[in-house]
Amino acid sequence: MEERTCILPGGWVDAQGSVHREVRYAPLTGREEALLADNRQNQAAQVTSILSRCLKQIGTLTPISESHVQNLLVTDRDFLLLKLREANFGTQFQATIPCPWPDCGEKVDIDFSTGDIPVTASQDKGPLYTKTLSPEAAFVENGLTHREVRFRLPTGADQELISPRLSENESLALAELLARCIHSIGSMQIESPEQIENLSPLARMEIEREMLRVAPKIELNMDVNCPECARLFTVPFDLQDFFFGEMRTSRDLLFREVHYLAYHYHWSEKEIMEMPKNQRRNYIEILADEIERLNNAV
Ligand SMILES: [Zn+2]
Repeated sequence: MEERTCILPGGWVDAQGSVHREVRYAPLTGREEALLADNRQNQAAQVTSILSRCLKQIGTLTPISESHVQNLLVTDRDFLLLKLREANFGTQFQATIPCPWPDCGEKVDIDFSTGDIPVTASQDKGPLYTKTLSPEAAFVENGLTHREVRFRLPTGADQELISPRLSENESLALAELLARCIHSIGSMQIESPEQIENLSPLARMEIEREMLRVAPKIELNMDVNCPECARLFTVPFDLQDFFFGEMRTSRDLLFREVHYLAYHYHWSEKEIMEMPKNQRRNYIEILADEIERLNNAV
């Protein structure tokens, strides 16, 4: 299987403080598709299982386990999904969405390349960051004023834990996320979401803005021009949804494809399951052309 490399926009920082950014990876094969078809985990956990199977090396770290992938920053995980998508299907994206203007609603084709998605690497690799709150946002407790916030950025492990809770109680889930990411405010250690809920909205806003500012970024909002009504709108592109929609082959179809290729080419199940989806589909297309040619010759 052809392996590729890429450079993470964030990076994984080891216990010695070294930053690891170069990743070696292989495309998804039928084996990962079979896993996805059976998978009932939440989406963040699925990202972890897919990445841990496809990533071969991060910096000097190899082999890659699920816990390594859980420790990657959320943006780095999205970036790697984008790279896996490129490895499996190339750089072009095509989707059809309805124009959001109520008096229009026409179907709009959007067509873009992964190269059109701006990726910004983080300057400061952390893993811990310090932000001094403004005097108005300072947290005062028992006559003590706390202003210096020490935090890290959200990782896959945070996402796995928090994302299923978002639909139950969004504000509590976000407080939990901050409680996990913030180590301390002044001399106060942060251990529970209740402490976060005691912060003023201004303090939370300053902390959240700083987290966004220092984090690596992937710009997934697309500006689209509706050809029907000529108005502009912005589409938030959901990379994970798109990725899983495209990758998830039904178990039934996957097995029929394997059977079809095994039947005509006499390859083993193991060999076929190790192919990426586009390679299987290419062989199926060649076979279809060949069968049609033979039929026409008769
Ligand atoms: Zn329109």
